[in-house]
Amino acid sequence: MMGLDPVPDRLAEVCAATRAFVETSVYPQESTLSAGGALAAAVLRQLQDAARAAGLWGLGLPPEYGGSLELLDFAYVSEEQGRSEFGAAIFGSVARQDVLTLAKYGSPALQRRYLDLLVTDGTVPSLAMTEPQKSGSDPMGIEATGVLEGGNWRLNGHKWFVTGAAASPYTTFMCRTEPDARSGAAFSLIAVPNGTPGVEVVRETLLLGLPRGHAEVRYTDVLVPEDHLVGGRGQAMAIAQERLAVGRLLHAARWVGQGRRALDMMAARIRDREVAGGRLSGMQLAQQLLFDSFAEVESCHLLMVAAARALERGSAGRVEVGVLKVVGARMQHSVLDRALQIFGAEGLTDDTPLSRMSRVARFGRIYDGPDEVHIVSVARRLLRESAAHAGTG
Ligand SMILES: Cc1cc2nc3c(=O)[nH]c(=O)nc-3n(C[C@H](O)[C@H](O)[C@H](O)COP(=O)(O)OP(=O)(O)OC[C@H]3O[C@@H](n4cnc5c(N)ncnc54)[C@H](O)[C@@H]3O)c2cc1C
Repeated sequence: MMGLDPVPDRLAEVCAATRAFVETSVYPQESTLSAGGALAAAVLRQLQDAARAAGLWGLGLPPEYGGSLELLDFAYVSEEQGRSEFGAAIFGSVARQDVLTLAKYGSPALQRRYLDLLVTDGTVPSLAMTEPQKSGSDPMGIEATGVLEGGNWRLNGHKWFVTGAAASPYTTFMCRTEPDARSGAAFSLIAVPNGTPGVEVVRETLLLGLPRGHAEVRYTDVLVPEDHLVGGRGQAMAIAQERLAVGRLLHAARWVGQGRRALDMMAARIRDREVAGGRLSGMQLAQQLLFDSFAEVESCHLLMVAAARALERGSAGRVEVGVLKVVGARMQHSVLDRALQIFGAEGLTDDTPLSRMSRVARFGRIYDGPDEVHIVSVARRLLRESAAHAGTG
């Protein structure tokens, strides 16, 4: 189905090639990829090799790492990659933010050890921020500690939802290193190589029944060299904020891709399905589901374009990205839910991808900050702006 904002001409070829790759090579492997385990890992590798061979690998990276697309252009391509939830991993897009963080804030030793691996191999580092006993929405509550002792950081803490912890080359551990500092300046990021003694992966948690490598991890007297600090002491929140804005934008682009795929499936089903009284295509309540979904997907795409432009201008994009995160996650969730409805009981089975897509869609309203946190943050900014202009209306 055509969107309201057609892909710019300069991107037509790469977007079409990405779409074709996703539809012909990735869709048939999604059930295998979703099951996890050794077979899924092998299939992922094969698909990554095929993406490299097709010239579609790592397109969003900076030119010095082989990429070729600016942020907004990459966001258009990310919509196509995101038609499959596995697209970002297959096209080497997941590690983008980690590459940029390492290149900007990593020590020479960390860069030598990991940068090339992240760029070429498709392995993705993990981030250990959230803790079971504290609200992840408020990182100021983080209790994990890092203490510098004779050239090493001694780390202690208990984390969970560490995505990909078991398979990652290293985990960036967020902890309190400056106990006397106020608020965000108390926290630092420290890279912990996989296999470091004292790191215990306690278990992997399924999310809505899906294995996605989310691990609960204990860190007990873990020692890593001083130069594994990422950025300066007390800079964790500033660095996290910098990478999260673009991360949220690209997530939302992929959600648009999921929404468009669901929309295409809904339209085909409504066109073809006979129900009591005639074809679904003639039923106005079915047309309503299609209309609402199209309107939400396209609105979200336009918010995504606005947010990308703001970030490209050098703005922090707090309002643009905050609105996009909330509207995008809701869009994906509600469009997938309507698609399930229109497919009837078949939508709840694994005969179509909708059941899996709708479960994954639900995650988006919680990770990278739940809806409420972004709503409150954006509303406060709007109110400050309103106060600044009070009396000028
Ligand atoms: C798929 C997925 C991947 C993830 N990956 C990672 C990862 O790689 N690394 C990592 O460290 N963490 C990860 N997380 C964890 C994620 O960052 C946290 O779940 C998130 O920050 C919310 O924290 P919480 O779960 O502790 O919920 P809480 O902070 O306890 O919040 C629970 C609920 O309270 C409500 N709430 C919170 N704040 C407000 C407010 N201000 N006003 C009104 N209501 C509010 C919301 O409804 C919220 O959902 C992941 C989570 C998911 C689902």
